[in-house]
Amino acid sequence: MEKRVLLYYTGGTIGMVLDDKGDLTPGKPGDFTKEVKRHPELFEKEEEDGWIVLPQKATDDCPSQYIVKYLIEEVEKPIDSSNMLPEEWNVIAEKILYEAHKFDGFIVLHGTDTMAYTSSALSFILPNEFSKPVILSGAQRTLFEPRSDAVENILGSLLMAGCYGYHPTIQQVSLFFDNKLFQGNRVTKFDSNSFEAFTSPKFKPLVEMGVDITVNYTERWCSTICHTPYRPLGNDSDARLLVLYPGIQEDFVRSALEHAGGVVLASFGSGNVPSFDWLQEAVKEASKREVLFLNCSQVFKGVVVPIYDVSSWLTEAGVVSGRDITPEAALTKMIWVLQEDLSYTERKELLERSIRGEMTEMIDPK
Ligand code: ASP
Repeated sequence: MEKRVLLYYTGGTIGMVLDDKGDLTPGKPGDFTKEVKRHPELFEKEEEDGWIVLPQKATDDCPSQYIVKYLIEEVEKPIDSSNMLPEEWNVIAEKILYEAHKFDGFIVLHGTDTMAYTSSALSFILPNEFSKPVILSGAQRTLFEPRSDAVENILGSLLMAGCYGYHPTIQQVSLFFDNKLFQGNRVTKFDSNSFEAFTSPKFKPLVEMGVDITVNYTERWCSTICHTPYRPLGNDSDARLLVLYPGIQEDFVRSALEHAGGVVLASFGSGNVPSFDWLQEAVKEASKREVLFLNCSQVFKGVVVPIYDVSSWLTEAGVVSGRDITPEAALTKMIWVLQEDLSYTERKELLERSIRGEMTEMIDPK
């Protein structure tokens, strides 16, 4: 049986080359595709209609003996993902939805710097019912270099999308890197130097590839929201990410809240914030204007729990607990929630619930 996968190249180190100044920049159109075909691990043959066949040997130890075929498509202007914008998330989502009938799975090759934002965003943008694998991946060194992680990451993603795509766990937005598949809205970039660039500090990887391939969950996250259709996002969102730090100034906070529709508060430790009167007033005032607040910890493994007196004013001031949500997922969820045509109360309810498995829904200890 055949499994068909789209390899959609949007930019990032994986396809970059050195320019005249010695800086890494996206290569010429077509160069990336040509290079993929030069790697025997990824290329057995090309069929007349452009489908590339993955060598049979690569799928030998997969549970089902699928023939994996893939098409490569490069975006017209690949980018460094530092330049990524919400509108480009829509372009990726639309590509996937438009081509859904043609492919069993999708791989989006993307720069690592903002990949966790894109994987989080796509998990919210794509309709709830969409149940094909969408895997983001990239590399820390370019595919053109001999000592690169690119081949391994592309091959692993193809195996996941092709041979393991039947698994409910994998029928969602995920991110494959360094032999691990993570849930797309639970992942964060934590190392810009090692091949192990990503981690999912508060949620076990979906799949671990060692000598054997282990799928850690048997089910896809279960959403309590029944129907969320595709709705594109705008670049002009009034969502803000406000990172708290000792000595943060009142005028800075007030200007951040001034035209905000929603604010993710990246708090200390277990969701703690200063208890200064001016901060309490500023947040309460903004809440009265129906500005949404979502509290997420800036600590890697921190979970928001209401145990300290210093932060006991938050709930009354209208701040929602993001529990174990990452800042990337919190911000993209906020952008998504703000563009839904809903009342302030309904939006707040969406922030309190797990829409796409982005946070653990749990009973507060208090
Ligand atoms: N600056 C690059 C990008 O995010 C880094 C990478 O891909 O690893 O596009």
